[in-house]
Amino acid sequence: MNPKEIKDRLKQYGLNLTLTRLKVLEVFLTKDRAVTYGELLKLTDKALDRITVYRTLKMFEELGIIHKIYTVSGLPNYALSHFEREQIVSNINQHLHFSCIKCKSVYCLDDQLVPAISLPDVYEIHSLNMVVIGICRNCNCG
Ligand SMILES: [Zn+2]
Ligand SMILES: [Zn+2]
Repeated sequence: MNPKEIKDRLKQYGLNLTLTRLKVLEVFLTKDRAVTYGELLKLTDKALDRITVYRTLKMFEELGIIHKIYTVSGLPNYALSHFEREQIVSNINQHLHFSCIKCKSVYCLDDQLVPAISLPDVYEIHSLNMVVIGICRNCNCG
């Protein structure tokens, strides 16, 4: 997604593209891996209010613009969602994630789709987290 498409997306939800929202989106648009809230603070303008950045993160997550990934480190990571490639149905992510034990980076494996899961009716799925743990391409080739 380019900034124009994101702006349209926000407009669709009745939201303006504020400076904080723009700065947060820029991080997600330029990173090829997921980021934590702590990293996001480091990567955005120091002048931005931490609470506003956090609220923006939560809001983007609720809107499905980004998605949350739980990893082995215990810290949630966030990555941009690809609207073109996956249907976002009640925030269930349909691709696998990779969590590196060496550099702690988390990647979306967009072409690795999660097989359909069917649980008995008594279970209500809120999110699905499938994370592959190992050594990433950067650490493996370096
Ligand atoms: Zn790595
Ligand atoms: Zn992902």
